[in-house]
Amino acid sequence: MTTSLTTDRLAGFVEKAPLERYVAPEKPSLVGLSRPELAEALASVGVPASQRKMRAQQIWNWLYARGATGFEQMTSVSKELRAALAEKFTLGRPDIVAEQVSVDGTRKWLLRLPSENPGERPHEVECVYIPETDRGTLCVSSQVGCTLTCSFCHTGTQRLVRNLTPGEIVGQVMLARDRLGDWSARPAAKDAAEAAGAPKEGGRLITNVVMMGMGEPLYNFEAVRDALLIVADNEGIGISKRRITLSTSGVVPNIARAGAEIGVMLAISLHAVRDELRNELVPLNRKYPIKELLDACRNYPGLTNAKRITFEYVMLKGVNDSLADAKTLVKLLKGIPAKINLIPFNPWPGSRYECSEWEQIEKFSEYVFSAGYSSPVRTPRGRDILAACGQLKSATEKLSARERMALRAMAMTD
Ligand code: SAH
Ligand code: SF4
Repeated sequence: MTTSLTTDRLAGFVEKAPLERYVAPEKPSLVGLSRPELAEALASVGVPASQRKMRAQQIWNWLYARGATGFEQMTSVSKELRAALAEKFTLGRPDIVAEQVSVDGTRKWLLRLPSENPGERPHEVECVYIPETDRGTLCVSSQVGCTLTCSFCHTGTQRLVRNLTPGEIVGQVMLARDRLGDWSARPAAKDAAEAAGAPKEGGRLITNVVMMGMGEPLYNFEAVRDALLIVADNEGIGISKRRITLSTSGVVPNIARAGAEIGVMLAISLHAVRDELRNELVPLNRKYPIKELLDACRNYPGLTNAKRITFEYVMLKGVNDSLADAKTLVKLLKGIPAKINLIPFNPWPGSRYECSEWEQIEKFSEYVFSAGYSSPVRTPRGRDILAACGQLKSATEKLSARERMALRAMAMTD
């Protein structure tokens, strides 16, 4: 056999099967339920049909607008109904196993989710909060691991994969609000919030949500859709669709669906301008090559200059960072209202790439900028706590102590 090892290795690895399933706990949480689902939950505890809609709205308000963590807090609901609900349901969010705060204020939560079989190791995902002067962004996970295997991404090396439920996705936003004390707009506490480096937008700490944590959101379409519609609902958590961004590695058939059924901002992990290279970096490209991907972008509903698609481009030294690449990129994106987001590569142990030199990133960025595109370079955040893009990998797949030390060293010396 003469086929190269690289080809063989990549060939079998376009996608992994999600091996794990979600099994609901005996007492499920109401977190993540839509209004009709809340009405069904109310029916199951004997609320008569004529009252269900009104009661569901009340519970919705307690859950998503006020962030109630216990039924006893729901003072506008009768004691009897509260007790009946508490018998059968919880208001649980994913369990926080660890909270880390970076020197730059970034916070990372390691979350524990139930596993398929009792007694097995629980599943873990991460959720990251990034405060900036004018905004606070929450980076949310959509899967435990990822079925895809992008060669520069740590999450892609994780074997264990399971889709998160809507409750586990909405639950990340809710627990971040719990931990940050961010349930009510806070004009009075504004000074304190600002002193803590908090954003000013409406007095909220979390102003933006990005589906850029672990997993490929468009491979968990229904759950991500249902969760984001709850997050965006202005009678609840109320983060507007313009401030929610879904990032995909290019699941072409679901891009139009995302536009029609979710309507949030779109980011595309492009990373390469030639199919040959993109096949290697983002193996899903073999299924949906660049042309099909960009056609889907051109047809994304609601695309205007004010509502542009973000193209993410990880800067890999000597791989995709030449000026010729920048020129081809500009040509490819012609006619698509676009922003280009250059991401310095975040290394992890065993990764075969290096981050481009700073001067090269600047040259690339200047070229793209002079062609009329906004091209911010994403500053790596939370590197000391391994919270940066592509460094997320749950502890379920334990890193060896040596790997951990190597990772820290890399993060600290950058
Ligand atoms: N699966 C989705 C969303 C999560 S990844 C996607 O791929 O779009 C969020 C972003 O981080 C993507 O653009 C991804 O390509 C990028 N990324 C992954 N690993 C990285 C690394 N090691 N350094 C920098 N960016 C990385
Ligand atoms: Fe999955 Fe995105 Fe990582 Fe690719 S970059 S392996 S799609 S999480």
